[in-house]
Amino acid sequence: MHYCQRCNPAVTLEPASDVARCPQCGWTEIARREPLFVVTGASGSGKSAVFAPLALALPECAVFDADWLIDPLSRTHPVDWQAFRDAWLSVAHGVAQARRSTVLLGTFMPEQLEQLPARRWMGPIHFAVLDCTDESRTARLQARPPWREHAIDEHLAFAAHLRRTIEVVIDTTTGTPQQVADQIAAWVRLTTGGGACGEFGKRRY
Ligand SMILES: [Zn+2]
Repeated sequence: MHYCQRCNPAVTLEPASDVARCPQCGWTEIARREPLFVVTGASGSGKSAVFAPLALALPECAVFDADWLIDPLSRTHPVDWQAFRDAWLSVAHGVAQARRSTVLLGTFMPEQLEQLPARRWMGPIHFAVLDCTDESRTARLQARPPWREHAIDEHLAFAAHLRRTIEVVIDTTTGTPQQVADQIAAWVRLTTGGGACGEFGKRRY
């Protein structure tokens, strides 16, 4: 997304501190990098329900529900999921120019983001997973309208994988969306202020 405005043919700029620098001529432009917070979770975790209260709970961040780009991106072709994820990193890089962090609610895994072209324009990426008991997830998925997918066993298996691999787990089995939003906001602020996930790492909520 950052190209030298002097060199010909086009040269892609390299990140350097808070700027993007041309490796050939040294030209620079502002390119701030801020942390990205990803709140992931298998289907039925409560990601969609928490979006609106979380946006209000974190006015200092930009909060997005990643699924909102699926419809526009699927209008002409099947969604290219790598491009979908890279698009979100690019959006977050734009948000960072106002020195704001982005919180992204969506079904992502850490390894899916690391190799994307826009990754180098981000600061650290922190993950938390919304989780609930299998019984609660099954009941939530069964209550969905028929047009939504109902591959319950697959969602339970994916939830188990995320539970095993992501350190910060926020339980949504009993809490209201507002309570869950407050927990996520506390994690974001603690991580931003403390510079690391320490307090929340290896803990369950
Ligand atoms: Zn140049």
